[in-house]
Amino acid sequence: MQTLLNEFRHIVGAAHVYTDGDLTAWEQDWRKRSHGKALAVVRPASTEEVAQLVKACATYQALHPTSGVSIVPQGGNTGLVVGSTPDDSGHQIVLSLQRMNTVRSLDADNLTMTVEAGCILQNLQERAEESNLLFPLSMASEGTCTLGGNLGTNAGGTQVLRYGNTRDLCLGLEVVTAQGEVWHGLSGLRKDNTGYDLRNLLIGSEGTLGIITAATMKLYPLPASQLTAWAAVPSLEHAITLLGLAHRHLGAGLTGFEVMSQFALSLVAKHFPLLLVPLHLDAPFCVLLENSAHESETHTRGQFEGLLETALDQGCVTDAVVSESLSQANQLWHIRESIPLAQALEGLNIKHDISIPVSSIPAFVHATDALLQKAIPGVRLVNFGHLGDGNLHYNVQAPEGMDAAAFLRAHEEQVNTLVFDSVAQFNGSISAEHGVGSLKVDKLEHYKSPVALDMMRAIKRALDPHNLMNPGRVVRV
Ligand SMILES: Cc1cc2nc3c(=O)[nH]c(=O)nc-3n(C[C@H](O)[C@H](O)[C@H](O)COP(=O)(O)OP(=O)(O)OC[C@H]3O[C@@H](n4cnc5c(N)ncnc54)[C@H](O)[C@@H]3O)c2cc1C
Repeated sequence: MQTLLNEFRHIVGAAHVYTDGDLTAWEQDWRKRSHGKALAVVRPASTEEVAQLVKACATYQALHPTSGVSIVPQGGNTGLVVGSTPDDSGHQIVLSLQRMNTVRSLDADNLTMTVEAGCILQNLQERAEESNLLFPLSMASEGTCTLGGNLGTNAGGTQVLRYGNTRDLCLGLEVVTAQGEVWHGLSGLRKDNTGYDLRNLLIGSEGTLGIITAATMKLYPLPASQLTAWAAVPSLEHAITLLGLAHRHLGAGLTGFEVMSQFALSLVAKHFPLLLVPLHLDAPFCVLLENSAHESETHTRGQFEGLLETALDQGCVTDAVVSESLSQANQLWHIRESIPLAQALEGLNIKHDISIPVSSIPAFVHATDALLQKAIPGVRLVNFGHLGDGNLHYNVQAPEGMDAAAFLRAHEEQVNTLVFDSVAQFNGSISAEHGVGSLKVDKLEHYKSPVALDMMRAIKRALDPHNLMNPGRVVRV
């Protein structure tokens, strides 16, 4: 393998090939569930270098078919399903795109920007804003995650309700294939029906079909005003009624609709006492709504007040506040985004990132809560998520006083099976946002239809016949 490492050094420069020292930042996943061992961390600076690296690996693998050499593309390493870190074989190369972080162009008339895969999401939002434009992809990891990782996982986030997933924001890609060829598919076209949609095949493929090196993304006019409201609701059924009312009153202005259970908010209040969590003490659920409009703030506030008045009259909201300033709106979002951290401080827990048709969510939650309580009396359920997209973080915490690690050891498999079986019964998905990675490969084999799995394997074999790209992730071949 020394010859291969020397070739890497020749391609990207010795300073950008790491083989020893502390490589934890690249070898360990965000949630510290897995710490692998890389043959090397390699950091190319251009598409051409990525192509040369892949060619070098492909050639080496063809000459040494049992060497186990393969490539794990990596961006910010914030993925939550162990997809961007190496296994412990010591034969996988972490190909980090972090140095490819240039905004190649911004076309204000076409409302697009073409950027490299290693650009940090928050930097892209700021670059768009400098041109008075909006890049709407947004999530709590935005200070670290990269566009390549967002595309690799088809990330969602907080604005999906209005702007869609990363897939919906992408018009074109530049990709290095598993053979080391470059597909120049960058395009600012909103209409292009010229055969199979390769772009959509690559998006969400989690680095298993090729390496995304650049993308052309959609931009939008910046909203003139943006307000956030926080409403207490008596039940999940009432939250769904409120969602319907919000669609009717706010139209395309509705950019966020997040639900949080009382227990989820009580964890925030307990672990972050300086954050003042509004209205949660007497309400089983609270909802955070965001209204973004191209009208004045007075108009946007009037729309919100109209919505909340109707909702109060109909009894689907018992109390509500509307943010008075940007900093107040940020505080409300901060409370919502603090739930995962508060949960972590409470102890290890079993996470599920699921989607269910919005109309079935209350029935799903009631049925699954009851099954879990029957199986493990006293188990605590931390429910929150992007209700407007039918996406719930349905997390399961040990009963009060029980050792969290012992709870996980004893019950993780049982809980996962129970929750995923219930998701399947309600025609949902076992992974709404985070992808499959290596954590959910077994589950996918169980819950995805055999016909779909066969098509996925056929695609993987066709595009990556030597299983060079992130093997063992998403689908086994
Ligand atoms: C605090 C926190 C909040 C989060 N919130 C959300 C959320 O709201 N919504 C959501 O969807 N996700 C969320 N995530 C998950 C994660 O941030 C996203 O999936 C993000 O898109 C990953 O980007 P990354 O650059 O860190 O990718 P990485 O973790 O480095 O990689 C993720 C996957 O993409 C592949 N990949 C990376 N770069 C490329 C590339 N250039 N070409 C091909 N494949 C590539 C990797 O091989 C891996 O399989 C959150 C994570 C954290 C830690």
